Amino acid sequence: MRQYPPLTIALYIIGPILIIASHIGSLLLLTTGLSLGAVVWIIFLYEIRMLATTGIYHRLLTHKSYQVPAPFLWIGCIVAASAGQMGPSWWKAHHMSHHQHADLPLDPHSPYTPLQGIKGFYFSQGGWLLSPRFFPAKLPIDVERDRVLKIIDRLHFVPTLALAAISYYIGGVEYLGAFFLSTTLLFHGVQTVNSLSHLVGEQPFITDDFSRNNWFVAFLTLGEGWHNLHHAFQSSSRHGITIRSGKIAYLPDPTFSFIKMLQFLGIASKLRVPSETELLARAKDKTFQCSQLPIAIEASVDS
Ligand SMILES: [Zn+2]
Ligand SMILES: [Zn+2]
Repeated sequence: MRQYPPLTIALYIIGPILIIASHIGSLLLLTTGLSLGAVVWIIFLYEIRMLATTGIYHRLLTHKSYQVPAPFLWIGCIVAASAGQMGPSWWKAHHMSHHQHADLPLDPHSPYTPLQGIKGFYFSQGGWLLSPRFFPAKLPIDVERDRVLKIIDRLHFVPTLALAAISYYIGGVEYLGAFFLSTTLLFHGVQTVNSLSHLVGEQPFITDDFSRNNWFVAFLTLGEGWHNLHHAFQSSSRHGITIRSGKIAYLPDPTFSFIKMLQFLGIASKLRVPSETELLARAKDKTFQCSQLPIAIEASVDS
């Protein structure tokens, strides 16, 4: 494990403490009940912070699948940090490590190693955050060089606490409980990408890991569940792509729709998406090639 300054260690550890506090704080709703307004608050906070995690932390900050002006990235990272998803350096460091060592011993959160079965599921669904793997082996240089991102990273808990305070200001203890429940649901929703999307689902593309396309995870995570496509084409801004009967098919991908909206507004540019040729070359189902074979033979006979 990398040697961190004691202050960084102390600041990072606040993250898991806040997630545990969110689980406990959700119980506040047992004393207050749940109004329709609080339900809307839970869903709103879940969706907006999920979008920041998937669209900003993952597809923009980590994989650079599109570009935006720096201030938009900074604001997006603050929203993502308010989800209790830690800061940009920590997040990118772990995710790059996941892709580099997917489902191998150095993967920070694989359901196959170091544990298997139900224990492996628990480990990938959040247990890894309570292990020494919580601290990344190294922090990404590009994020660390950006002073704003570095400050957001070390003070990742400030946006979370600020949102808790805003919730309390809006609706008292009930809305504070709603904030805690939303944060708890969001935490587990994000973790299903690490667990279920490496355990259950289709594998339309050839990869050297166990990544899957899982519709349930895609529903929970605004399109991140199309994880097999993502492992096959990591820099693609669009994840909702599969192969059906040898042909390319597109799947619901709200995060990509968000990115397209940013492009329409002139905020996002240089969206990266694999070509049809690249997609078909990585497809497991090669029936499309077989169907083209007689034509190729006929062509060679004619010549
Ligand atoms: Zn993965
Ligand atoms: Zn990724």
